[in-house]
Amino acid sequence: MNDYDLLVVGSANADLVIGVERRPGPGETVLGSDLAVHPGGKGGNQAVAAARLGARTALLARVGDDAHGRLLLDAQRAAGVDTAGVLVGGAPTGVALITVDPSGDNSIVVSPGANGRLTPGDIRAAAGLFRASRVVSAQLEIPLETVVEVVRGLSPGSRFVLNPSPPRPLPAEVLAACDPLIVNEHEAKVLLGEGRAGVAPEDWARSLLAEGPRSVVVTLGAAGALVASPAGVARVPSVRVAAVDTTGAGDAFAAALAWRLGAGEPLAEAAAYAARVGAVAVTRAGAQESYPTAAEVAAL
Ligand code: ATP
Repeated sequence: MNDYDLLVVGSANADLVIGVERRPGPGETVLGSDLAVHPGGKGGNQAVAAARLGARTALLARVGDDAHGRLLLDAQRAAGVDTAGVLVGGAPTGVALITVDPSGDNSIVVSPGANGRLTPGDIRAAAGLFRASRVVSAQLEIPLETVVEVVRGLSPGSRFVLNPSPPRPLPAEVLAACDPLIVNEHEAKVLLGEGRAGVAPEDWARSLLAEGPRSVVVTLGAAGALVASPAGVARVPSVRVAAVDTTGAGDAFAAALAWRLGAGEPLAEAAAYAARVGAVAVTRAGAQESYPTAAEVAAL
């Protein structure tokens, strides 16, 4: 019996957002709007998305012993995430400093802070969480050596899902564990390298599958997604909605997919559900604030 449908291992950031008329140049100061502080980070986003859908979810992450860390923990608990595995201290909470101009273009500076201090030793110390979890998902906003340790810590029979964002080359050991590797167009191209990517998303999926993952999912924004396994490549239908803000849609998609796979759904079916979750998320502003309940997905 698993205690958790999903264990998310990853980052938690405070997103500090200021609206500006225009973004400052070198040496320049501009005045902006009131500050808005939003809970974010790919790990935190995935955990909230899964818990809101009804998945029994645990987060393994590190935040600072500071006000931002407390804000992030509160947001996780409010969504129903088990935060017993969130480590506190060692560095300030990760922060993304975001300026947005009226056209919606933004400039972002990320300070990984405590996310960069989530160590392989922290993963080994959380062996009980791994034993209790049906599916483990990760992203790359924590050190790569820590993600390697996540793969080594997987229990027999548990499933590993990776969204390699921000993208960087992955060791064969990590690729071989992914079931699936979830990428968007940018991540697919970085992982494959220029010239090897091919032109169509189906080519990216097949080329990535040849690198070792057991399955691959390519997300395509408004065009939906496609899934690839040794059995072949299949399109996942897109869902037509009026998009308001696509921030965090990829994280919601990955979390929903991981949860449905853990419930025993085939990859194509789980991806179709995840596409509906992503579609609801883009109809609302923000990342964690935009994530739907299962009832809202059913009503879509
Ligand atoms: P982000 O980095 O902004 O979180 P991403 O690039 O990783 O996103 P996307 O491909 O943009 O991921 O979105 C994930 C999924 O959400 C898509 O595969 C799709 O199913 C759904 N989705 C995203 N944008 C839209 C949209 N405009 N209309 C309908 N569905 C969408």
